[in-house]
Amino acid sequence: MKLMRTTLLLSLLALPGFSNPLLQYTVPLPWDQIKPEHVVPAVQHHLKQAEARRLAFLAQTDSPTWANSIVARDLIAEDLQRTFSLITHLNGVNSSPALRKEFNVAQPLVNRFLSALALDPAIYARVKAYAATPEAIALTGPHQRYLVVTLDDYRRSGVSLSPADRAKVLELRQELSKLQTQYAQNSLDSLNAVELLVADEADLAGLPLPAKQAAAASAKSKGISGYRFTLQAPSYTPVMAYSENAALREKLYRAQTSIASRPPYDNRPLVTRTLELRRQLAKLLGYANFADYQTELRMAKTGQNVKDFLGDLEAKTRPFFEAEKATLLKSAPDRHGWDTAFYTQKLRQEKFQFGSEELRPYFELDRTLTGMFALVKQLYGIRVTELKNVPVWHPLVRAYCIDDESGTALATFYADFFPRESKRSGAWMNQLLVGENGAPHIGLIVLNATPPNAAGKALLLHREVSTLYHEFGHLLHLALSAGPLRRLNGTSVAWDFVELPSQLMENFTWEKDVLKTFAVHDETGEPLPDALFKKMTDARNFGAGSSQMGQLSRGTLDILLHTDYQPNADYGTPDAYGRQLVQRFSAAKIEPEECPVCNFSHIFAGGYAAGYYSYKWAEVLDADAFTKFKSSGVISREIGDRFRRDVLSQGNSQPAETLFENFMGRKPDPGALLRRNGLVKKN
Ligand SMILES: [Zn+2]
Repeated sequence: MKLMRTTLLLSLLALPGFSNPLLQYTVPLPWDQIKPEHVVPAVQHHLKQAEARRLAFLAQTDSPTWANSIVARDLIAEDLQRTFSLITHLNGVNSSPALRKEFNVAQPLVNRFLSALALDPAIYARVKAYAATPEAIALTGPHQRYLVVTLDDYRRSGVSLSPADRAKVLELRQELSKLQTQYAQNSLDSLNAVELLVADEADLAGLPLPAKQAAAASAKSKGISGYRFTLQAPSYTPVMAYSENAALREKLYRAQTSIASRPPYDNRPLVTRTLELRRQLAKLLGYANFADYQTELRMAKTGQNVKDFLGDLEAKTRPFFEAEKATLLKSAPDRHGWDTAFYTQKLRQEKFQFGSEELRPYFELDRTLTGMFALVKQLYGIRVTELKNVPVWHPLVRAYCIDDESGTALATFYADFFPRESKRSGAWMNQLLVGENGAPHIGLIVLNATPPNAAGKALLLHREVSTLYHEFGHLLHLALSAGPLRRLNGTSVAWDFVELPSQLMENFTWEKDVLKTFAVHDETGEPLPDALFKKMTDARNFGAGSSQMGQLSRGTLDILLHTDYQPNADYGTPDAYGRQLVQRFSAAKIEPEECPVCNFSHIFAGGYAAGYYSYKWAEVLDADAFTKFKSSGVISREIGDRFRRDVLSQGNSQPAETLFENFMGRKPDPGALLRRNGLVKKN
């Protein structure tokens, strides 16, 4: 007996893939062991397991219950989805040719299975049969809500269509997912393909010292002398705002605004095809357009409501924008896009004697994190502790745990702060494991912030601090969600509600009581001076009209592409249409090679299609919600507890409107956003 067991173990070890860390979900996650060659075997293993579970689900003869119809259904693809979320994440932050190749093989397989599962009429029949039982009719609270959400998902999936139309839906979803992957890869490759080398320091007049040092370090890392600039935000942004060298700004600007718009990284045909397929999909599913499909269950409800919302904001913002534009054009009459940030910065400097670089020494990353963790301890009574010696996917990635006051573990999360060529641009939060009934969650936040200088210190801009708070706000939404059902926990809320917890956090970065806890000068140890804080807040809304127009431009382009736009001569190609549309929102001339749709990953490679408006929509909510903190002294445990109880802990257990009203005691005040941004006429 003993011998046999050993033999069995040995033969298992000899099987290919036995040491594959993706076959089983183990915590802490084995990031350091996952290799590209594990991806496809692991996905095949989980697909096989999911298919076996699907067949077992359908073979059931017992009468339907919550456990055998809802819980068992959700279990079918759970391991597959969890594993694939790790792979997708790695492909976004540690992309390599080998990993990308494996991902591109695995992704269509996963997508096909999940799309087919969502459209499986036999599974739906059992769920529907359950919904008609007395047990289901008697459900209350989150369980009742989840049944409603599940039936809505089925209705919207196309499961009731004819077999031929269901096959068509599957085909469309499959191709859309492929286009999305290709779009993201083109954007990353195209961005990485650009580097600008400057030999002579004299050509860098105006550029702040940290930006020069970073450019020199970047050149050195490539084995070249001089200064190297890229399109990664920490490299690009200071050049656009500070470099006196218009030719340098122009080169980088032209490269940035035309990312992925020419072969070999050309997203234009992908955009055309994506829009076409989304139109077909919406039609097949019975919606007038893709925006109506996307917004149906969100707070906005219809594409038209989104258009009205954005149009109204545009009208209210325009007078402020026109006034700012007139001032700007006095300095930059040529209306070049590469002049906008530069002269805006100059005007801000003149008016407030304040530039964004001045704050950098006060926002060293470690201290900023300590301050942020202290804030959430005061607001919610939670403790964030760094975890040492857990595997991470890159040496600079950190891991943390979050505990409640009572010592209960709430979540683990990873934080990946700095840009790499193998990493997507932007900032995001992701959920890797959503717990239920108090089981801890696992999530992550990703930024592309200013990397550490030669002294090993990452000195951030205020904007980067704000982004850090934003992503951490999403993370809290996961960490503090406490419902009994994992699929309703965390950020699974209506898309136009999901930015409330994140944007709410940004407000705290403008509060003196918060900043004074951590903003001290990195070299002198001097606390952020009152005078500098005053300048920073005075300058806060400088250019608010223009920056709001910038966001409205993206929101409007997104919603119109998914409502009005038709592929005919009137509208032109999506890239021409995009160029012409954004002109209305820009003080600068849009150049012929700019391609606003080519590097719009939110809507073509992320989940924001017909959803970009959500930022503005949720800004109304967060500006309004923050007034409650403000009127209770900002760092208020009482209001924090209420926000946690009414919003953060709830996930999607009730409709978004209800959650908001529970917290505020009333409906949202649409004026809150304009007031906070200083976009109201002063009497
Ligand atoms: Zn966000």
